[in-house]
Amino acid sequence: MSDNDILLEVENLKIHFPLYGGLLGHKVTGTVKAVDGVSFQVRRGETLGVVGESGCGKSTTGLGVLRMVEPTEGRVILDGTDLTVLDQKALRKYRRKVQMVYQDPFGALDPRMRVMDIIGEPLLIHRLHQDKQAYKERVHGLLERVGLNPNMADRYPHQFSGGQRQRIGIARALAAEPDLIICDEPVSALDVSIQAQVINLLEDLQDEFGLTYLFIAHDLAVVKHICDRIMVMYLGHVVEETSRDELYDNPRHPYTRALLSAIPVPDPDAEASREFDPSLDGEIPSPLNPPTGCTFHTRCQYAHEACRTVKPRLRETGDGGHKVACHLYDPEVSDVRAEDVMTDRLLAVG
Ligand code: SF4
Repeated sequence: MSDNDILLEVENLKIHFPLYGGLLGHKVTGTVKAVDGVSFQVRRGETLGVVGESGCGKSTTGLGVLRMVEPTEGRVILDGTDLTVLDQKALRKYRRKVQMVYQDPFGALDPRMRVMDIIGEPLLIHRLHQDKQAYKERVHGLLERVGLNPNMADRYPHQFSGGQRQRIGIARALAAEPDLIICDEPVSALDVSIQAQVINLLEDLQDEFGLTYLFIAHDLAVVKHICDRIMVMYLGHVVEETSRDELYDNPRHPYTRALLSAIPVPDPDAEASREFDPSLDGEIPSPLNPPTGCTFHTRCQYAHEACRTVKPRLRETGDGGHKVACHLYDPEVSDVRAEDVMTDRLLAVG
């Protein structure tokens, strides 16, 4: 892969939030390590899925890329430029290149604005239109492109269904002519039938405009069809990263395997007799006071002595760049081997 193929490179990103307490609330009493040393690359035109339960740091990672929350440490390199060192004025140019589609389309759209103004706002901010007529035509064209009637431009967000509102959010993101769109749980709030339509739309737009996506989701069922590669996060760390097919065919990290076992199976008989991995039953530990060693050890059914004290490194295991952070795959740390303790009993990947 040449440097030119890489659109986004994130190096050792840390986003820590101080917690204030004490009598006057001015004293730092703790630190929430929402993102704690995350590195990844996204190639031009690909979709990288970022998956994990609520609180794993996936959305904060997306916000950190855009500097909508300031990174504590690390670099975010977009198209060769380190965004973390730019001042606000210089950052604006790059903000146009990276747009966001949010989970809650209703919350993300200003209820007092007409759709014409919602979609047209990026054209005004980034001066992407020539005159009033061109502005109107561009908004109408974007509405059509996302499958909505241009006549709807004078309506308000509450006059649309959830799926239509998400299409408006996508049209607004497209208006800025971005290179990268961060899709933060874009279909989680929608009915299953509508989810597929929105995912198909995102795929069509990617083909047409050569877009690159960072696709954030809380379960592995949603990302299966749209992502080229998937990165699984747990408590602010990446625990596994590989191609989509490799992840579903050969999941390695116990957490990934637990997430896969939770995907519903379409066959009702198979669903009724399915075994769930018990790891996900337990509470996610607080990022304010994460467990020592492997942060997943308090829920992992394969946890052994080394897991409680030694932090696993994200390292390549086998061919094809399959990365895993687990001692079961690191003979330098532990002699407990994955092949000796794991079975495929719990995996029910449809
Ligand atoms: Fe489980 Fe240990 Fe691997 Fe962590 S390092 S996932 S606790 S086996």
